[in-house]
Amino acid sequence: MTNIAKNLTQVYSQIDQAAKNCGRDSREITLLAVSKTKPAAAIREAHEVGQRQFGENYLQEALAKIAELADLDIEWHFIGRIQSNKTRDIAAHFHWVHALASLKHAQRLNEQRPAELPPLQACIQVNITGEASKGGVSEANLPELARKIAQLPNLRLRGLMTMPDPNDPPAVQRTVFSRLRELQQELNAKLGLTLDTLSMGMSDDLEAAVAEGSTLVRIGTAIFGARDYAAGDN
Ligand SMILES: *Cc1c(COP(=O)(O)O)cnc(C)c1O
Repeated sequence: MTNIAKNLTQVYSQIDQAAKNCGRDSREITLLAVSKTKPAAAIREAHEVGQRQFGENYLQEALAKIAELADLDIEWHFIGRIQSNKTRDIAAHFHWVHALASLKHAQRLNEQRPAELPPLQACIQVNITGEASKGGVSEANLPELARKIAQLPNLRLRGLMTMPDPNDPPAVQRTVFSRLRELQQELNAKLGLTLDTLSMGMSDDLEAAVAEGSTLVRIGTAIFGARDYAAGDN
């Protein structure tokens, strides 16, 4: 087995164990392989052992890999920050977007989604801790944004995404995950939405995220190894 294949097996068993520990069924949890800065060959390797969902942050790099791997049945997730000048390509080339935080971006994606494609699956990123430097909508603005996005015909609002501060202690990170779950339940109860996705958990906080109800973990380093930004074009 290659390293990537071994790492994937390892991450899947970590997810299984984390699910068992809290009485969940691991089939409720999707593993998104985060391949940013990694070559198309690494994605192909993961695909060969059954991985189908891949996450990318940097648009130009992602578009090159999507073109190179067009022969594979991959579900592409854009997990990076969204900017207005990128929405057209995101709408045309991805199946999912995870970091929606403004109505303007959502409306652009909705307008630019090609008619022949199914709706773009979407998560709203929530900034739970309220740090100004972080992406995401505030809790206060979340309900109104969710209500409006849910009405856009070419987007399908699936749930919420968050990223705790990696410098915070694990206990604090866990409260961030648990708050995201509460917010999802509130939106479903108060707005009549049917959000089913909690995009939370990365290589270092997978267990806590699963314990708090994550349905999609975004794992890069534990599958593909450390990223070398200096070598990339980012
Ligand atoms: C890079 C990235 C990940 C993966 O992080 P790892 O620590 O390498 O698992 C997950 N989510 C987002 C939004 C990212 O940018």
